[in-house]
Amino acid sequence: MSLLRPYEMLVKCIILLVTNYFLYTHGLDKNPSILIIGAGPSGIAAASRLWKNKFTNLKILEGENRIGGRVHSVKFGDAYIDLGGEWCHGEKGNIVFDMVKQYDILKHSSASMHVYYSNGILLDEEIYNDLAEFAESMYESLNNTEVEEKCSNFSSVGECFDNQFNTTFAKLYQNNYNLQTILAEAKSWLEGYVLAFDSAFTLYDIARNSAYEECEGDLGLNWNGRGYKTILEVMLQQYPDPTQELAVVNNILLNKEVTRIIWNNSANQVLCLDNTTYPADHVIFTASLGVLKATLESLFEPALPDEKVRAIRNIGFGAIMKIILHFPHTWWDTAQPYAFIWSAADRKKILTEFGKGPVRNGRSWLTENTYFIPADNNPKVLMGFFAGEMVPEIEQESNEVLSAGCMYMFRKFLGKTHNNITDPDDIIKSMWYSNPHFRGTYSYDSAKNTEQGLQNKLAAPLLRKNGDPAIQFAGEATHPYHFSTVHGAIESGYREADRLIHYYAQH
Ligand SMILES: Cc1cc2nc3c(=O)[nH]c(=O)nc-3n(C[C@H](O)[C@H](O)[C@H](O)COP(=O)(O)OP(=O)(O)OC[C@H]3O[C@@H](n4cnc5c(N)ncnc54)[C@H](O)[C@@H]3O)c2cc1C
Repeated sequence: MSLLRPYEMLVKCIILLVTNYFLYTHGLDKNPSILIIGAGPSGIAAASRLWKNKFTNLKILEGENRIGGRVHSVKFGDAYIDLGGEWCHGEKGNIVFDMVKQYDILKHSSASMHVYYSNGILLDEEIYNDLAEFAESMYESLNNTEVEEKCSNFSSVGECFDNQFNTTFAKLYQNNYNLQTILAEAKSWLEGYVLAFDSAFTLYDIARNSAYEECEGDLGLNWNGRGYKTILEVMLQQYPDPTQELAVVNNILLNKEVTRIIWNNSANQVLCLDNTTYPADHVIFTASLGVLKATLESLFEPALPDEKVRAIRNIGFGAIMKIILHFPHTWWDTAQPYAFIWSAADRKKILTEFGKGPVRNGRSWLTENTYFIPADNNPKVLMGFFAGEMVPEIEQESNEVLSAGCMYMFRKFLGKTHNNITDPDDIIKSMWYSNPHFRGTYSYDSAKNTEQGLQNKLAAPLLRKNGDPAIQFAGEATHPYHFSTVHGAIESGYREADRLIHYYAQH
């Protein structure tokens, strides 16, 4: 193998030289006008790669007043917290990891979950391990367990979950009646835990047989208080040396919500809410699948082909929510995430003891909490994750009610074991579902869909009659197996930049 290396490098150099020769002598004479819609990770990836390849006639139109999209790191307390994408999931085959490994800024997240019961007792660590293992067995081919075999006829995670939960835990804890009772109550908590993987609203909508592929290695690498925004800084060459910043940052136009994209056989026209219009030879569209679902009837003229519409409708897109609290002092164990399992009796009591905030089918929003984790390198901050169909309503609730609800929960579960629990002095919440520029958090393979390869259909460019790519699609939901992630979004942005680079190398 080592003998081949110099040869491989030579071939790579020749390809690069030929591509650049064509770009300078052919394609870039034309320097096509390119519009990228959206300055999230995929848009920034596409823009930076095109820019570095001398495609300088490009603009990014961003609907928000900031860049980053679903990567939104905010200074809160002593460091940055992430309202959106937070962890780098894996080390092998993960483009985010590859881009930053030389800087040693990603840290391993430690500690398994501390699970408390609503009588204030800390449950044995084994219980969390058993629950987490069961959760993983819901997905085909992640684990080759007995549960997985028994669920082979089910297409949704929900069917498998309902069918297997009771039997699995009755068998596992057959000699311990107390544990069996607690575990029956843990079912509802575990539902939320699984929902958060996919950000779906119901387990019945999540496909067991998903095309998602995990990268090997630590799935929970954190940014040690620097925020996931670091990856945007790396792509824009603002990190590690700000003097190397790519000038493409000057071509990002903020507060430019695109309302119509007219694509036909001549140049595209892109119209914005502020009545400005931009012509472009090529458009790379990166807004979320949630935005596409909501606007597909009005955004494109002519309308999108049926196959694309089917992909947009049939890939799943839901929402989770974060509530992040800052305290005057640390009263928890900063190394441990916390999960809370309500007894059936305490679940009912919430409605009288803390009746504020959304309630659905007799269930308080507080029971939708999946866990609270101490923020990384930010000792006075706790981050709460909420999942399930009440998320859109929880987003609308006032900070006062959210904060008071979390405190009611902390005192109920942790009051016996933690001294000095104090009220927070600041709170921040995510609102991904309500924001029309996102309409949710990330995509997933839906159980209702029977068609293979929908992500590729979503990614397919719209071509002009002469074969020119008119509209291209990037963004996490267009990635065939890394959808839902930042690394998937970035790979998709590079894919679409390369499509244009290669196209102009050949024409
Ligand atoms: C709460 C949460 C937690 C997450 N956790 C993780 C995690 O731990 N690890 C991980 O890898 N991933 C995580 N993700 C997913 C990850 O953040 C996304 O997959 C990724 O950021 C998507 O990037 P994107 O470029 O595809 O889309 P986006 O980031 O959504 O970028 C699209 C851009 O388009 C803009 N836009 C939308 N509509 C218009 C319009 N009409 N006109 C102009 N601009 C428009 C938007 O404002 C946005 O800036 C999480 C996401 C959320 C929300």
